[in-house]
Amino acid sequence: MRSGKKIAILGATGSIGQNCLHVAEKLSGEFNVTALTTNKNISLLIDQVKRFRPHMAAVTGVIPTEQQQQSFKQLGTRLFFGQDSLVEIVREADYELLINSVVGAAGFVPTLTALEAGKNIALANKETLVVGGELIIQAARKHGRTILPIDSEHSAIFQCLIGEDHNTIEEIILTASGGPFRTWSKEQLFSVTVEQALNHPNWSMGNKITIDSATMMNKGLEVIEAKWLFHVPVNKIRVVIHPQSIIHSMVAFYDGSVKAQLGEPDMRVPIQLAMTYPQRKPSEFPRIDFGTLKSLTFEEPDPNKFRALALAYQAAETGGTAPAVMNAANETAVRLFLEEKISFIRIAECIEETLDKIKIVSHPGLEDLLQADKQARAHVMQFIGD
Ligand code: NDP
Ligand code: MG
Repeated sequence: MRSGKKIAILGATGSIGQNCLHVAEKLSGEFNVTALTTNKNISLLIDQVKRFRPHMAAVTGVIPTEQQQQSFKQLGTRLFFGQDSLVEIVREADYELLINSVVGAAGFVPTLTALEAGKNIALANKETLVVGGELIIQAARKHGRTILPIDSEHSAIFQCLIGEDHNTIEEIILTASGGPFRTWSKEQLFSVTVEQALNHPNWSMGNKITIDSATMMNKGLEVIEAKWLFHVPVNKIRVVIHPQSIIHSMVAFYDGSVKAQLGEPDMRVPIQLAMTYPQRKPSEFPRIDFGTLKSLTFEEPDPNKFRALALAYQAAETGGTAPAVMNAANETAVRLFLEEKISFIRIAECIEETLDKIKIVSHPGLEDLLQADKQARAHVMQFIGD
């Protein structure tokens, strides 16, 4: 019998997923990895299965070859594949904590399914809350489950709020690095290359979130994520640019006090806390060196230059299916930019146009959300085909 908290990791082959496994390895004996998934990276998944020996694994984006299927079998791991395999894993695996580190709206239904099955979630997949925050929070409440944030800003806010009365919150202050184009002019943004956009100054992450950071849509998604996680209206969530990425976010209280959480920009810290919570475990991750840290600076984001952030606030205010539409338009536009089919500034144009044209449903059910996502993706393709 293996001991430790049983964890299932969706998106194990990604940047966050690999860091989760790193934490599990470092804190050996604390975790029992029971399920792992990938979209296409089967060779890495097989390596992970050899190391962690989960009971189940899933491949969503491609069909494994006979030989690959045989490898899983020999390792004693039951393999699922196909689009529905994430949900199958969520339903069938034996775990206490689901770590959702899939990228994109594909993470939404698995999160909902896990909550409905009475599981706690460690959530990196912010798109889950952007697409269907209302349904997710309702399901968590109904089943008495916890959603522990992995996103560094939300982990910071979560930590600042421990022991505090929710009614005393005046404002949530989300910090943003400003990405690689913080000091560029609006005109310079017309000529951004994929390579430049993928060159984030402080964080090493998957491609989609790295582009979201360059457009600042990432911060827009995080405003919506914070709204749902901390039950705070969007007009009380402010974004401040903090280029050093040392303060991960802050909470201002109604007596004028502000709490901040600091650390080196290393995702393993918030990942470890989400995995071990309510305990805090020691780590050897890098420490802040206050001897060499010269300054912490802050700026207001320029809504003209970072149009995507303004659009996210707008979608959050509109509510209903608007954030799901915005998210799907953004995912599609980011993919097209990475494929060099559209320019960098077209990303925000695609989102704005799609939000303008798709009819928004208020208080959507699951089907409305899935339909909105589909319509928005189709609309972007039609728009850029024009
Ligand atoms: P990656 O692209 O590095 O990894 C994504 C993972 O999900 C991979 O395992 C990938 O498989 C899998 N995947 C991709 N598409 C699908 C799909 N359609 N269905 C099922 N699985 C899929 O992303 P990140 O690790 O950077 O980000 C994951 C999530 O965490 C995102 O929502 C991101 O916004 C959030 N996040 C990430 C941070 C970071 O530092 N990276 C920080 C804070 C939040 P494959 O390997 O085959 O591509
Ligand atoms: Mg973040």
